[in-house]
Amino acid sequence: VLYPNLPESGLIVLIGASGAGKSTLARTWPASQVLSLDALRDTVSDDPGDQDATADAADVLKLILERRMARKLNTVIDARNIEQSVRVELVMAAKRHGMPTVAVIVATPLRVCLERQSPRPTIRRVPEDVVRAQHRAMVHSHQRLAAEGFNTIVFADTLYRLEPFLKQLSQ
Ligand code: ATP
Ligand code: MG
Repeated sequence: VLYPNLPESGLIVLIGASGAGKSTLARTWPASQVLSLDALRDTVSDDPGDQDATADAADVLKLILERRMARKLNTVIDARNIEQSVRVELVMAAKRHGMPTVAVIVATPLRVCLERQSPRPTIRRVPEDVVRAQHRAMVHSHQRLAAEGFNTIVFADTLYRLEPFLKQLSQ
């Protein structure tokens, strides 16, 4: 059991701005359980940053999620997930298969999200005003998650296993 405060198998939706640390957190789960929108953009277009490939990547993500939920397999969605419409679709897929749903809010301070943009290659850097808007949307989403049907709502920093994992990464 990776996180005792989460269901053993369910849909885990990471929510956070660029640079919040979603992909880093996602790496604490087995790779096969993680659906990354960036990785799927790469799969469909040979370019993880190609925004024009987002719709196709999201289609593929939803198809894989559906098949995994049908098998009752734990699945983590590594994307910003700051739009209500996006989250509602994910939750509906889980509910169709009677799977529990978890929202993990990656509420890293805006200042840190912005600082983490500068070391990135230019092509992966998200403009400051965009990160600000994403961060605002993350904060705003918090109050809506229960009504959207999430069974569990947690903050990423309360998933205690992250700390030893990050130490191990930096060794
Ligand atoms: P994006 O939405 O742009 O994909 P992201 O939320 O996936 O962003 P990450 O790529 O996971 O963000 O993290 C950004 C940077 O912050 C990485 O360089 C990572 O090493 C660092 N980082 C992430 N989480 C932590 C943490 N808990 N402690 C220290 N550094 C972290
Ligand atoms: Mg990421």
